[in-house]
Amino acid sequence: MDYTSILHQVFDESKTDDGKVADYIPELSGINPAKFGIYLQTKDFKKIELGDSQEAFSIQSISKVFTLSMAFSLLGEKIWQRVGVEPSGSRFNSIIQLEYENGIPRNPFINAGALVVADILLSHLKNPKQDLLTFVQELAQDKSIDFDSRIAQSEKETGFHNASLVNMLKAHGNIKNNCSDVLDFYYHQCSLNMTCQQLAIAFSPFASLTEPFDFEGIILSKSQVKRINAIMLSCGFYDESGEFAFKVGLPGKSGVGGGIVAFQPHQYTIAVWSPKLNQKGNSVRGMKALELFTTLSGQSIF
Ligand code: GLN
Repeated sequence: MDYTSILHQVFDESKTDDGKVADYIPELSGINPAKFGIYLQTKDFKKIELGDSQEAFSIQSISKVFTLSMAFSLLGEKIWQRVGVEPSGSRFNSIIQLEYENGIPRNPFINAGALVVADILLSHLKNPKQDLLTFVQELAQDKSIDFDSRIAQSEKETGFHNASLVNMLKAHGNIKNNCSDVLDFYYHQCSLNMTCQQLAIAFSPFASLTEPFDFEGIILSKSQVKRINAIMLSCGFYDESGEFAFKVGLPGKSGVGGGIVAFQPHQYTIAVWSPKLNQKGNSVRGMKALELFTTLSGQSIF
């Protein structure tokens, strides 16, 4: 497979003027909308990259895969008593469904679900922020990864929507810690800055390119990795998860910083970054690039 020429074609043909940079978190709005990076890591650890693949950006909701992995490792199957595994079909920060469903979020990748996961980590860990950082650094094999406190602070100042969600969850008894502590942890996890390269490497254990899954005491069995991957496929792109599976055909996760990481188990991981988002909060060029990649390479899970 000539991945280099495929990635060049993807780079050229994915160009688009569509989309809008997220500005509801003020610190995110200053990013250059023309940024585009792509990084592919294959099963034999070939690495092919183009564009701004070495520039760190705000991973936002991609962090929800890391926190879910930690909470699932700590709690095991009991975690599913507090958060579901069904696609929500609604916006990532929707509050309506949460009230109807008595404070049990549909899945761990919508904001309400990620807030419950954050609460679990706060209950089980002495230094949750440091433990998350160490876990992500180990996964990505890069100790330079850090939180961006300006972005965390910016989201804290404007995060009324997330504050409503955590209070609604607390009212239903599904938050055990102080709401402001849960939000503080959540904003920090979302503020993690990573490059396409770091993300592609960090997701290698989910794609079973490296085994076993054992990083800094966070151990997941093959069956647990399978479950997390299934949630990425069905819920990784909020209310556009069906569309992503239809067009791209890979499990993955997106964030409102414009990043997307996806993979074909046992074959490759791929990370793309382009800050302009569609209405659903997913990167327009990123989705287009991945659709082209799986179409041109013929390599998806289907
Ligand atoms: N921090 C963002 C929020 O809570 C993450 C959302 C996302 O990336 N979809 O709104």
